[in-house]
Amino acid sequence: MTATDTHPTMSTGAIVKSQFDYAADLLGLEDYMRQILRMPFRTVTTEVPVQRDDGSMAVFRGYRVQHNGARGPCKGGVRYHLLADLEEVIGLATTMTWKTALFDLPFGGAKGGVQVDPRELSVRELQILTRSFTSRIAIVLGPYRDIPAPDMGTNAQVMAWMVDEYSKRRGYTPAVVTGKPVSLGGSLGREEATGEGVAQVMRRYAEDFGVPIAGSRIVLQGFGNVGAHLGRLLHAEGAKIVAVTDRDGGWYNADGLDIPALYTHAYEQRRPVPEFVTEGDPLDNEQIWSLSCDWLIPAALGGVISQETKAAVLDCKVVVEAANSPVTPIADKILEDRGIVVLPDILANAGGVTVSYFEWVQNLQQHPWSLARVHEELALRIKTGYESVRTIVQDKEISWRTAAYVLALDRVATAERLRGY
Ligand code: NAD
Repeated sequence: MTATDTHPTMSTGAIVKSQFDYAADLLGLEDYMRQILRMPFRTVTTEVPVQRDDGSMAVFRGYRVQHNGARGPCKGGVRYHLLADLEEVIGLATTMTWKTALFDLPFGGAKGGVQVDPRELSVRELQILTRSFTSRIAIVLGPYRDIPAPDMGTNAQVMAWMVDEYSKRRGYTPAVVTGKPVSLGGSLGREEATGEGVAQVMRRYAEDFGVPIAGSRIVLQGFGNVGAHLGRLLHAEGAKIVAVTDRDGGWYNADGLDIPALYTHAYEQRRPVPEFVTEGDPLDNEQIWSLSCDWLIPAALGGVISQETKAAVLDCKVVVEAANSPVTPIADKILEDRGIVVLPDILANAGGVTVSYFEWVQNLQQHPWSLARVHEELALRIKTGYESVRTIVQDKEISWRTAAYVLALDRVATAERLRGY
């Protein structure tokens, strides 16, 4: 690894760059190709004015970054979060390019963000913010250009407002956004798809490398769209989820937490995890790293496993990157040296963008799929993606992250060369 890791947290942009350099060296990528693949194709920075409920005006900062479109229209979520600055969004857009390539989806990579804490806005203000942002970036969107989806702080309702705002200009265009409500052209199975995809990758790894999910001990950071669905699925398979935290803290119970009840409390009723009434010990977000477990699953923010000391105290067999870029490069190296496997984000959390692809296909063909078909095709895609990375890991004796990056970079570089200049 080439990057240094001296900060307590490292931006997603810096993490992704370091991972890129390492894989590009292994592939022997030409200098001009490295420059193309490092730089985003297009970045849009815009003001996002919102009239608050009290009549005052607030102005937020918004971004849409299209990292690469060599393999198809740019694809990636929109994040509403205070840490969603330009560098973070570029890093996340870059990750999307590698993720879509790794799973051979006909897309490039993009990401959007508005620097805002959505919890501080009313529903009316959130709708205005979304419309304001969409109208400013609409010029670079389109079903064959750039297709947003939900990410942290956004959901199906936000996507519905985006479709409506975009459609005012171009006519009804559901394929401009994925992750919509099902009654507005969304795909069955999209909401839980990222968690389902993570669970499928874990099941395959569990079978291949003897870390069975049933009976295993799991620590989970983040209980939003990804974490809550994933926790529910793993619990149903017999795993003991011994700790869960959200941004406010959480709970530890050595016998396993009551995940169905926590799902209702925190995901359905949108209440903080620490307010869940349960037996066990309260936890803050720093305490989870040293808990003994089989699977440690960061499903919240990037850069959370960052300092050397943190990587040194993890007590697990496998880290599953359900979040984007939770492990910094130096931490990654320490984990590798300690024999702790890291299943990287671009492999582990691609279930969401895969079902987004299915949604886009259904919208373009105006032909909705059954849930059974979504599940069947998702399982096939995850199996193929997982097995292609596992083969490289075993043949070349390199880490899962490096193998995934090598495969993804090679695909994007090949498309760039074929398209010419
Ligand atoms: P979400 O907004 O639904 O949930 C985020 C969760 O993280 C919440 O429980 C929140 O309380 C918690 N959190 C926030 N800050 C925290 C902190 N400092 N410490 C501990 N917990 C904290 O977001 P999501 O859609 O579940 O996304 C989670 C991660 O997964 C992000 O990294 C996102 O980029 C990634 N991801 C999401 C999708 C998707 O389809 N939603 C797809 C791929 C990757």
